[in-house]
Amino acid sequence: MAYSNEMYNKAKRILEKRHDSAVMDADMRSMQIKEEIPEIKKIQAGLQQIGLEISQLFFYKQNTDEKLAELRARSEALVEERSRLLKANGYPEDAMKPHFVCNACEDKGVIDGRMCSCQKQVLKDLMRKEVSRFAPLDKCTFDKFELGYYSEQPMENAIVPRQRAEKILDTCRKYAQNFSLNSKSLFFFGGAGLGKTHLSLAIANVVINKGFSVCYGTSQNICDDLQSEQFGRTDNINYTKNQVLGCDLLVLDDLGTEIDNQYSIATIYNIVNTRLLTGKPTIISTNYAFDRLEEKYDKRITSRLTGEYIPFYFIGNDIRNL
Ligand SMILES: [Zn+2]
Repeated sequence: MAYSNEMYNKAKRILEKRHDSAVMDADMRSMQIKEEIPEIKKIQAGLQQIGLEISQLFFYKQNTDEKLAELRARSEALVEERSRLLKANGYPEDAMKPHFVCNACEDKGVIDGRMCSCQKQVLKDLMRKEVSRFAPLDKCTFDKFELGYYSEQPMENAIVPRQRAEKILDTCRKYAQNFSLNSKSLFFFGGAGLGKTHLSLAIANVVINKGFSVCYGTSQNICDDLQSEQFGRTDNINYTKNQVLGCDLLVLDDLGTEIDNQYSIATIYNIVNTRLLTGKPTIISTNYAFDRLEEKYDKRITSRLTGEYIPFYFIGNDIRNL
């Protein structure tokens, strides 16, 4: 999965913090308990001594088996006595141990050189947070998609908006469930307020939960950010570019709303083309009619959208006005 280095580093820092704070809390509790129950203080000293002796055995490579068994038996007896004392004083048995969020990896994020599921979850949470900065991800799920807003009356072209919306919803659900790096790109078009953004975010929700990286932006924001990077107006050099071109799924919303100039057209072309060449799925939505898109961009862009993307034509009345 193509998460950014920034995101991996953030996840690492979160786990380090979790680990350190669990260890620190345990130290604090242990100190307090040792003050309170002097027998436990002695036991702890005894355990420490045993630990030292065990490491010396290994260090000097002496014939260890018998001695080791004896030390282990002593240690077990002390641990048992400690548990008894803790319980007798109203503490849980594990009161002196660190309470990790993930016991499997003790909040290190890695088990046997492989990423632990807790780190995967941290990455997913960070991904959600990142996309939520720009779009109402939580509000736009499949379950919250209201088919009731779409009319059951056929339009002049005999298409029934409700039926069309049901079909699109169903296809998008399946697309999200089966999403992989080989998934096709989608092109959502039709008037404003017909649920295009909602459905692209509903897909994003599922795809993020599957552990893929997702980047969301309106075409205007993406063009602005890329321009700022290119002309050195931000310290975060190439961050947006890497995200937009490298993420597993790009949702490029509101195509056509970016400022009308050669830079924007070249940028959109570069995004569409690069992601197709590298086989990365993209969802593009637009309120523009196709002939207007053709006027605005040249055929190099529109022919890719019609030829390589799966088209979804949204119809009905603007649901935001209902
Ligand atoms: Zn873990």
